[in-house]
Amino acid sequence: MIRFEDILDKIESYKPDYDEELLQRAYIFSAREHRGQVRSSGEPYLIHPLNVAYILADMRLDETSIAVGLLHDVLEDTLTTKEKLQETFGNDVAELVDGVTKISRYAYVSKEEQQAETFRKMLLAMVGDLRVVLVKLADRLHNMRTLQYLPEERRHAIAKETLEIYAPIANRLGMGKVKAELEDYSLQHLHPREYDELSKTVAEKLAVSGDLVDRIRSTLAQRLRENGIDCEVYGRVKSMFSIWAKLRRQETDIGQVYDYLAFRIITPSIKDCYAALGFVHQMWRPVPGRIKDYIAMPKPNLYQSLHTTVVAEKGQPFEVQIRTREMDLIAEQGIAAHWKYKEGRVGAHDDDKSFLWLRQLVEQQQEIKDPRLFLHSLKIDLYPDEVYTFTPKGDVFAFPRGATPLDFAYRIHTDVGHRCVGARVNGKLVPLRTALKNGDIVEILQGTTQTPSREWLNIAVTSRARHKIRHWLNTEQKHRSIELGRKLIEKEAKRYKVQWRKLVAENALDGVLSEHGLARLDDLYADVGYGKISARSVVERFATDEVKEKGPAAEAGVLQQAVRKIFPFTSSSQTIKVRGYDDLLTYLAKCCNPLPGEPIVGYVTRGKGVAVHSANCPNVKNLMFNPDREIEVEWADQRQSQFQVELEVVAEDRQGILARVISTISNLKTNIRHLETRTGDGRATIDLALEIADLKHLEKVTKSIGVVDGVIRVERRYNTGRHATA
Ligand code: MN
Repeated sequence: MIRFEDILDKIESYKPDYDEELLQRAYIFSAREHRGQVRSSGEPYLIHPLNVAYILADMRLDETSIAVGLLHDVLEDTLTTKEKLQETFGNDVAELVDGVTKISRYAYVSKEEQQAETFRKMLLAMVGDLRVVLVKLADRLHNMRTLQYLPEERRHAIAKETLEIYAPIANRLGMGKVKAELEDYSLQHLHPREYDELSKTVAEKLAVSGDLVDRIRSTLAQRLRENGIDCEVYGRVKSMFSIWAKLRRQETDIGQVYDYLAFRIITPSIKDCYAALGFVHQMWRPVPGRIKDYIAMPKPNLYQSLHTTVVAEKGQPFEVQIRTREMDLIAEQGIAAHWKYKEGRVGAHDDDKSFLWLRQLVEQQQEIKDPRLFLHSLKIDLYPDEVYTFTPKGDVFAFPRGATPLDFAYRIHTDVGHRCVGARVNGKLVPLRTALKNGDIVEILQGTTQTPSREWLNIAVTSRARHKIRHWLNTEQKHRSIELGRKLIEKEAKRYKVQWRKLVAENALDGVLSEHGLARLDDLYADVGYGKISARSVVERFATDEVKEKGPAAEAGVLQQAVRKIFPFTSSSQTIKVRGYDDLLTYLAKCCNPLPGEPIVGYVTRGKGVAVHSANCPNVKNLMFNPDREIEVEWADQRQSQFQVELEVVAEDRQGILARVISTISNLKTNIRHLETRTGDGRATIDLALEIADLKHLEKVTKSIGVVDGVIRVERRYNTGRHATA
């Protein structure tokens, strides 16, 4: 328990000439005013202001701040007036206590407005006198330490507010120690089970690793001292909150925690910091991408340190922070550490770079009237590692850097993600790959027929979006394979005059299923759809001997019924729109990229649906050794769209030949996507990729190039290098 004398001792240690009389009066005043009041813990109320004052002394603040700590609740919880405080303690103390009191007074109803208002007041207070905020932080810290006495609902609300407002502000002020403690307590109350599990897991790991922490620490210290670096080395377990937050980010199980140890090296000079980093890397292998030089590039809150993560024995990683004594003080106490050098008011009027952000924030907040928008803009600044984006309605979504509109779409709703066809960012249409930036207003465009494609897995970065896309693809592929398999079997059943539906209704298929080790009929369909089992082998056994002898009905007539209507596809996306209720998973084969209008054939691939090839594609001829898997397909619609066609033009190697070919192509209003030439043996070969609308268009282009003076021949190229079903 903190006694008044402890506070005095503490101040004495860093400010021997402090005004003891002021503190005596503040203590007596507070004790008298709070007499008879008790906290939820059952202790006398005075315990609370005493602890707050002690925390402030721990921050090495001046005696005015500490007096305010002792008095911070008298306006709120007793009959004392501001005038009375003014009379007794002077203007400074009265204004500060008033400022602290005002921060937690709400005239607003909604949670969000309330939060925004707390932020606003904190900011204004910081501009006026930073000490208000420091006292408020100390107040919150002690309240968090003693939160267990409150009912659950209150605890949750307070912990949430602490996590959303107080910890970020402590962070922004560079007060790492306060921030970490606020976060840990919040976690403990918001997710008590996870917190317990995590602490237990870490404790077990520590027990198993034996004296690992001591070993690493002494190895480090010894090695550095041998090399003439005067240093102190500390080892610790990282804060529970930081471990928890990282596991959350990576969506890892609590049991999987391994990155939980951190060591700190304090050296006398910056030069020694870098030298020490070198020795650390000589001793253990550094993890790439984890070396951070915050000495050369301080964080916005003035934090400076070198960071690295290395891997010790048995693959145990640990973080090493290296900094000077002064940097360490700033890292722990932040803005409060500046206090040593200053007396009296500290605020944004100060000619101090560290207050620039604060001034900017205050200017910003005066322009933003909507409390929600204000809150959002503030959060952007308080969590600089994240990207904050808005819906047109002003709802905010935070993403890791690199997130795209697709991540945004999936954050709104899974269905919005699935149907996402594009996005407007700040009013402009952008490609789905665009990385979102802070403050972007994102509007998702949805299509009625759009569905996720495999390509999307390369665009989405958040695990949520990627999970949803993968799940959809798997389900959809299975679903479509079942459909395809069912149709293939039914088609085959007709040819063999087998009454398939009747067999199904009579459960006469158990033999087939067990033969293939399958549990359900759908699994059989899926396997046929995937091409693992041929439809014929399933059906044939049920045919009459007569049919078996005569052979199945002719292909043509029956195949006609299985014709698929295929739309030309309009983008480079691999999704193909297929019309009608009987759509199947189809795609245009990459080896030949068939054009609308030209003859095409479909081929049932293993696991990827129906590949649609140009009938002239050389790959098809090789594939047709298995006619069971051929499906007749036809174009459904001749819409205006562009397809890429590759041509090889062989010409005499003469000057100007290339220019003539190109102008011939552009005279036909045809775009060239790719062009490459090579020469040899007196010949020039021009490889072209052109945007072609249909077969007629292609014929016209080919003919025109063919008659260019000097051109020997023009050939369409089929990419036979790629596997036909790929
Ligand atoms: Mn209080």
